[in-house]
Amino acid sequence: MSETLTVQSYAERLSDALPRVRGEIARAAASAGRDPGDVRVVAVTKGHPVEAVRAALDAGLTDLGENRVAELAGKVAEVGRGGVTWHMIGHIQRRKVSDLLPVVDWIHAVDSLRLAERIHRLAPEAGPPVNVLIQVNTSGEDAKGGFQGPGALDEILEVAGWSGLNVQGLMTMAPFVDDEGVLRGTFGALRRLLEEVRRQDPRVGPHLSMGMSNDLRFAVEEGSTMVRIGTALFGARPGTAGGA
Ligand SMILES: *Cc1c(COP(=O)(O)O)cnc(C)c1O
Repeated sequence: MSETLTVQSYAERLSDALPRVRGEIARAAASAGRDPGDVRVVAVTKGHPVEAVRAALDAGLTDLGENRVAELAGKVAEVGRGGVTWHMIGHIQRRKVSDLLPVVDWIHAVDSLRLAERIHRLAPEAGPPVNVLIQVNTSGEDAKGGFQGPGALDEILEVAGWSGLNVQGLMTMAPFVDDEGVLRGTFGALRRLLEEVRRQDPRVGPHLSMGMSNDLRFAVEEGSTMVRIGTALFGARPGTAGGA
């Protein structure tokens, strides 16, 4: 299927897709007795041209997610930071942190102590600390990054004490499966871990970044406050079959 990726074509897609996504969030929130207003949609524009960003902003989506530092910086150069909350949702190489900090509002995938330390060291002394989420591997899959195992709680508490970062909560990626039990288990484990972290350090924020296009229902039912949605809003990423 060939198509021209104009602001107009993205706007048309969003006019169907956004109400559908919001409806799914509303139903999941209702079934869990939650307020759907407590679930932020981070619109994942990675892999799409800047036209998708402009259409998203026109549609009122102001939380935008990217997973590569260079692509994020490029889009920020085109549309700026005013009126947009930029989220870096992907793995970050430590040597890219200095490029990232000037263009980002939230960092979702702080997946190691070494990365956290780098962010803390490079965070500008003037200005508020950068909002971060600690990525936790709650699925146990080898291929997934993040803090894991019995030491995770103490490591997260250590990072929470560093002044250069504002630990707003936790993030996880579920396995790419449909199995409800596996998905709920992965998301529920993150929620319980955050409860324990916040019991021990109330400075840590309440956010749970979990849920993507394919699993947002269970993520919201299990307490997500930020869903990261790409494909369900913008369609398959150009040049891919809808994968990463
Ligand atoms: C790409 C990506 C998403 C969005 O995935 P979709 O399936 O397109 O909704 C969410 N989170 C992370 C970390 C991603 O890299």
